[in-house]
Amino acid sequence: MDARPLPKITKYNEPFFKVESDELKLQRCTSCDNLIYFPRVACNRCLNAELKWEKVSPLGTIYTYSKVHRPQHEFFFKDVPLVLIAVKLDAGPLVISNLINYKPEDIKIGTRVKARRESVEKTDIKLLYFEPAK
Ligand SMILES: [Zn+2]
Repeated sequence: MDARPLPKITKYNEPFFKVESDELKLQRCTSCDNLIYFPRVACNRCLNAELKWEKVSPLGTIYTYSKVHRPQHEFFFKDVPLVLIAVKLDAGPLVISNLINYKPEDIKIGTRVKARRESVEKTDIKLLYFEPAK
C-alpha cells in the first residue's frame, strides 16, 4: 500500500500544520483584514504579502458534503466511505476537510462541527479534520 499522501510543508503553510492540540490558525491580511484559508503567500483579496497568523474559533457548520466511495489515492481505500465536508467557519472562511467520529445522522447540511487535529506518524504534522461539536 502506498504511503499516506501529505502536504508539502513550506514556510507559508508550516504554522497551519504544526500546531498545538486542536487549535486552528489562519492567516489574516494586515492590509484589508481578510481572513484567509488555505495558507497562501499573499492575500487572495488584495494581494498584500504581509499576512499574520491568528488563532480562530475551531467551530463551524457543515455547508455541504459528499460521500466518497472511490478515493483518488490507494491509502484511503480502507477508510471508505470518506465524508468530505465544506465547513463554514464561525470565523468566516469556507474550509474543505473530512468529517470524522460521526454518527450517520450527523452527515447533513447544518451540523455543527469542531476542528480536530490528527497527528501523522513519524512527522510533526497535524492534519485538520472536523467532528460533530458536542
Ligand atoms: Zn488583503
